Amino acid sequence: MKSIAVYCGSSLGASEIYKEQAILLGKFLAQEKITLIYGGASVGIMGTIADAILKEGGSVIGVIPTFLEQREIAHKDLTELICVDTMHERKAKMMELADGFIALPGGPGTLEEFFEVFTWNQIGLLQKPCGILNINGYYNKLIELFDHMVAEKFLQERSRNVFYVDDNYESLFSKMRTYEPPAIKTY
Ligand code: AMP
Repeated sequence: MKSIAVYCGSSLGASEIYKEQAILLGKFLAQEKITLIYGGASVGIMGTIADAILKEGGSVIGVIPTFLEQREIAHKDLTELICVDTMHERKAKMMELADGFIALPGGPGTLEEFFEVFTWNQIGLLQKPCGILNINGYYNKLIELFDHMVAEKFLQERSRNVFYVDDNYESLFSKMRTYEPPAIKTY
């Protein structure tokens, strides 16, 4: 993997642990010479991970819609900042540029982006690994919901396993590196 898209909060969260882990992941990406693709903001966990990589001399590409450029406070010191017209274009561009996708703790924006790569993998529109970095058990309830979907037969077991989950970024990466495109969902 030469590049990875990280979806994460434009807020910092209630506990320092989110920021601390984002910094460690940023250092790891810089050491591994993996380019970060992200939403281009200088605030929240988004800004934290970008800063951590830049501080280590790594490479960061931000993709931001023009109308959010001011509101989200676009990061001014990125390796590259790509401005697009719409939120849809932002996601498409990030999907095109990244070799894989990770969701860190975040709010609805993070989930919306993660769900797109998950569901596109499920129906075969995308064939790149995606994972959840479950810092501080933040996503436990979401993972329970996925198990409930499987139990209630609204999610196939094999689709449930399209994405990886780990609370440690190095083991999450090891899993993602073994990715093989899933069998396309049948009905
Ligand atoms: P949040 O997790 O809600 O803090 O949002 C994190 C990032 O997701 C921010 O950069 C938001 O602009 C972005 N975002 C929110 N909604 C969407 C959407 N519908 N499509 C793409 N990005 C979004």
